[in-house]
Amino acid sequence: MYTSRPIRVRFAPSPTGHLHVGGLRTALFNYLFAKHNNGTYLLRCEDTDIERSSKTFFDSQMNSFAWVGLMPDEPVVIQSSRFEEHKKIINKLLAEKKAYKCFCSEQELEQRLGKSESEQHFVKYDKHCLTKQKENNGAYVIRFCMPETADAYEFDDLIRGRVCFTPNQFDDFIIVRSDGIPVYNLVVVIDDAFMNISHVIRGEEHISNTPKQIALYHACDYQVPQFAHLPMILSANGQKLSKRDGALSVNEYKDMGYLPHALLNYLARLGWAHKDQEIFSLEELITYFSLEAVGKKGAIFDPLKLDWINSTYMKATEASVLYTYMQESLQYNFTTICPNWDMKTIERALHIFKERVNTLKELLNEIESFYKDPILDKRYVTEQMKHHSMLIRNTFLKEGVSILNIKNKAKDLGVPMITLAQTLRFALLGKMDGPGVSELLAILSDQQVLHRLERIQSI
Ligand SMILES: [Zn+2]
Repeated sequence: MYTSRPIRVRFAPSPTGHLHVGGLRTALFNYLFAKHNNGTYLLRCEDTDIERSSKTFFDSQMNSFAWVGLMPDEPVVIQSSRFEEHKKIINKLLAEKKAYKCFCSEQELEQRLGKSESEQHFVKYDKHCLTKQKENNGAYVIRFCMPETADAYEFDDLIRGRVCFTPNQFDDFIIVRSDGIPVYNLVVVIDDAFMNISHVIRGEEHISNTPKQIALYHACDYQVPQFAHLPMILSANGQKLSKRDGALSVNEYKDMGYLPHALLNYLARLGWAHKDQEIFSLEELITYFSLEAVGKKGAIFDPLKLDWINSTYMKATEASVLYTYMQESLQYNFTTICPNWDMKTIERALHIFKERVNTLKELLNEIESFYKDPILDKRYVTEQMKHHSMLIRNTFLKEGVSILNIKNKAKDLGVPMITLAQTLRFALLGKMDGPGVSELLAILSDQQVLHRLERIQSI
C-alpha cells in the first residue's frame, strides 16, 4: 500500500522544553516504521520560536534520544538555518499569486467580519486584500490562497482512512506574520519537502493542519507525503494526560530509574498491538510494527503497567549492566553508599535485589538499607526469636558462618529450619520477606552477620 518513493520519516520537536514521553512515542513510531521498511529516520529541530527555543533544551532532547538509542540516520536539520530558503519560497508564492499581502488591521477585520467570541469561534477572512486593497506602507501579513474545491479538504490517513473537512472551516490563512516570521504550517511543508519526507507520522492534534499543508504542497509543486495521525495518549479517566498521570519528561523517567528499553517497550504498546504480546525486544518491534495495527482510539497511560514492564526488564538484565545504568542515570556513587563493598559484592547485591523491585531507584534504596544495619520493628521480635538468634550466633561463632551449619543445628534441636531461617533473615534484613538467607550471607562479612544477630538481643 506504500508508494515506491524511498521511505523517509522524521520527528520534529521544538527545543522549547525537555522531550516528553508523548513525543518519544511519536519518535518511536516513526523510527519503527522507518526501520521496518528499510527506510530513513530523521530528526528536525523546529527552533523558529526564538524566544522559547534554547540550546539547553535542544541538548536535553538529544541526550534523551541518545539514552533510548533512537538516533537519526542523517544529521539533525536545524529549521532556523533554513530561513533564507523559506523566504525564497514565500516570494515565489507571492510572484505566482498563490499568496498575497493583507494590510487589514485587527480593527478593520473586526468591523468587517465581527469579533470572534472565543478562540474556538472561527471567523473566516473575506479575501478583501486579494482584490480590493492596494499596497501601502503599513504592516502586513501574507495570506495563502486556499483552494475552493471540496476535494482539497479530504485526504487518506494511513491510520484513520478517509478524513474529510468542510471548506468553511478554512480560509486564506496567514503564512507569514506581520513581524516577517513564517508560520508553522508553511515551514513544516517546505522543510519536509526539502528532507524528502515520504510519510508524516505525528500526533492527532495536527490533523486539522493537514488540509492546509496539502494545499501548500500543491502550491509549491512538491510531492505530497502520506499522513498518519497517531491516537492521543490519555489518562485513566480518559482526559488529556497531565503531569500527575505520567506526562513527564524522558529525563524524569530516567531519574526515577526506568530502563530505556523498558520505556520504549511500554510506549510502543500505547496505541499499537501485536497479538497479546507485551514484552518486545527492539528487533521484534521493528519486525512486527505496522501503521495498520495502530488504533484510532486514544491510548490510556498506565503507570502500573510501565512498572511491571520495567521490573520484567530488570529481572532479565545482568547485574553488571544494571550497575552501568545506575551510574549513568541516577548519578550516584556506590563508593559513598557502600564504601566497604568491592565490585563483586555490589553485583551480588544487585543480582539478588533486582528480583523484588520495579525501578533502579527502588533497587538503590534496597541496597542502601541492606548495607546499613536494619531498623528492627519491635513488633516482630519475640522471646523465641531472641533465643534463636543467640543460638544461630553461637553456632556461627563456633563452626563458621554457613547456612549448612544452621541446617545441622536445626536438626540437632528438632526445630524447623524455616523458623531459624526467618529469624536470620529478620536479623540481617529487618524484614520477614526478602531474598534467600544464603544469598544474604554471601554479601555480608562474618562480623556484620554476628553483629546483626546480636542486635536483636537489645530490642
Ligand atoms: Zn486584508
